[in-house]
Amino acid sequence: MSENTSKRCRRIVIKIGSSSLTHEQTGGLNFTKMEKMVRELCDLQNQGMDVCLVSSGAIAVGRQSIGMKERPSDISTKQACAAVGQAKLMMTYQKLFGEYNHAAGQVLITKNTMINPVSRNNAKNTFDELFHLGVIPIVNENDTVSTYEMQFGDNDTLSALVASLIGADMLILLSDIDGLYTDDPHKNPKAQLIREVSTLDEKIYEMAKGSTGSNVGTGGMATKLTAAKIATFSGADMIIANGNDVSVLHQIFEGEDYTGTLFHANSNPNFRLADFIMESIG
Ligand code: GLU
Repeated sequence: MSENTSKRCRRIVIKIGSSSLTHEQTGGLNFTKMEKMVRELCDLQNQGMDVCLVSSGAIAVGRQSIGMKERPSDISTKQACAAVGQAKLMMTYQKLFGEYNHAAGQVLITKNTMINPVSRNNAKNTFDELFHLGVIPIVNENDTVSTYEMQFGDNDTLSALVASLIGADMLILLSDIDGLYTDDPHKNPKAQLIREVSTLDEKIYEMAKGSTGSNVGTGGMATKLTAAKIATFSGADMIIANGNDVSVLHQIFEGEDYTGTLFHANSNPNFRLADFIMESIG
């Protein structure tokens, strides 16, 4: 992106995954990275943008607090971990945002919030009011009450739905991978990073096939392409970048060269968020 993106963007959603927020060896929170990211977000808000953070990590942080070594597979243990982890995550965010004199608020969403037109509209109004008041919403799935049938499961899709709901201009997925590759880079050393995608066609979907997510979070490349479809059809650009170095946010918004994949906004007049939700996730 060559122009200064910050001059163009009005409302942005940034999603960070569990694997980018926690230390691989221990599962404990990476405070240094969190602190840097919070500073970047406060700075973006200081430039006049409405900033929304979609943060995973509830289950990962909860499991570490309870002393569980493996990611739980049964739903009730995940819910219990999330109950502990979400509170701890928000406590940490509140402290960090508070240090920069910025206010953050928690928004927990379930599929029902998105499917039900009344609660979807209520959520939209809440976001608008939070932005109006200068508060940074921190969103996650409400894992403690989401049952298997009613789970998004991954925050890639959730963040794109939020971007669509609030009319964001830009969605950034901070992931544990640099972007979209021509093939799975874990298996094929010749796989090449794609820098820009103008149209989501079969060729692009083919590239994501078989690519795997990390064992900390849940979203692989396929969920990121679903996110790209929701975001770009709703009129937002979407970038997949590596959350390993959060200064990539700075590079993106200053118009500097950065490593990642940009999916260009491609407003589709036939795309209706409510219909998409009913057909794909309802
Ligand atoms: N909502 C889950 C959590 O916060 C994570 C979902 C994801 O990994 O995308 O733990």
